[in-house]
Amino acid sequence: MSRFWSDLVATLTPYTPGEQPRVEQLVKLNTNENPYPPSPAVITAIQAATGDGLRLYPDPEAAALKTAIAARCGLDAAQVFVGNGSDEVLAHTFCALLKHARPILFPDVTYSFYPVYCGLYGVDYRPVPLDEALRIDPEDYAGENGGVIFPNPNAPTGRLLPLDAVRRMLDLNPDSVVVVDEAYIDFGGESATALVPEYPNLLVIQTLSKSRSLAGLRVGFAFGQAPLIEGLERVKNSFNSYPLGWLAIAGAVAAMADEAYFERTRQAVIASRERLTAGLESMGFEVLPSAANFVFTHHPGRDASGLAGALRERRILVRHFRLPRIDQYLRISIGTDAQCSTLLEALAEILSVEP
Ligand code: PMP
Repeated sequence: MSRFWSDLVATLTPYTPGEQPRVEQLVKLNTNENPYPPSPAVITAIQAATGDGLRLYPDPEAAALKTAIAARCGLDAAQVFVGNGSDEVLAHTFCALLKHARPILFPDVTYSFYPVYCGLYGVDYRPVPLDEALRIDPEDYAGENGGVIFPNPNAPTGRLLPLDAVRRMLDLNPDSVVVVDEAYIDFGGESATALVPEYPNLLVIQTLSKSRSLAGLRVGFAFGQAPLIEGLERVKNSFNSYPLGWLAIAGAVAAMADEAYFERTRQAVIASRERLTAGLESMGFEVLPSAANFVFTHHPGRDASGLAGALRERRILVRHFRLPRIDQYLRISIGTDAQCSTLLEALAEILSVEP
């Protein structure tokens, strides 16, 4: 007879992140990192923070960072929560704000970490199928629930829910916390942070991992009215944890201050996305409209897993999900123009050979 804790562990399905290979010279378009380095001001700020100050514990409130972020969004510091990457912010959110007697709702298909958090924190959930064009329809989220969470743009589809539809989602769910995970919002969407003063049930989550090229620094935020932020702070404090170390705080403050660099690299990624989309379409791929730093695409005549394997043989990594409904799609992160050209040339070569 098995022991209860081994049964318990057996029910947990860990999250499998995208591959982070240790070999060099790969064209790595599988985990939606930014192809450009972080702002030089970030490196300078981190170097400046590596002195005697590291002897001291960091500010448990990360007040300098909260103030910098709040100012940028027109909110005040009590409406901002910070954590080690938005994944940690999401963990605290599931633990503090989405744990109810009723199931929470999220799209099917979406970020594959959500069901993992539900497993970890004992949150019941009901996946809501995307429509026939792989879009989120807010009308499908009406009715009693324990909370709603969705990425905007959605992952891995890249499809954007316009702000009026996000508003509709909030209006349909006045008694639930509605979490909008905006990991990719800077690549083409309008942020819901503007709605925070109006909706006490809205929590917006963002990250420096994508549009600020800082996946390795691990900084994420949540924006919401003070009671929701207070809930997150209580969970964090229960772990007796510091939100961020000094180096992350220094780098994040510098990243938020360099708007010119942010704008330049953001526009470069958007331009490459349009170029990559046109290139893929010219080869017969169908590409979903993307507001993110990746595209979601399939080729009517080719098996997606076979394509991913053939690319891998050429040292090009893209993401293929073995999931119902999307197993014929590839998710391709936007690289530099040179990386996108290498990918397009490889695909042309692969497609030129009969399947
Ligand atoms: N949300 C979504 C939708 C994501 O795709 C990711 C990145 N995998 C995250 C959150 C987490 O990003 P990070 O922890 O690097 O901020």
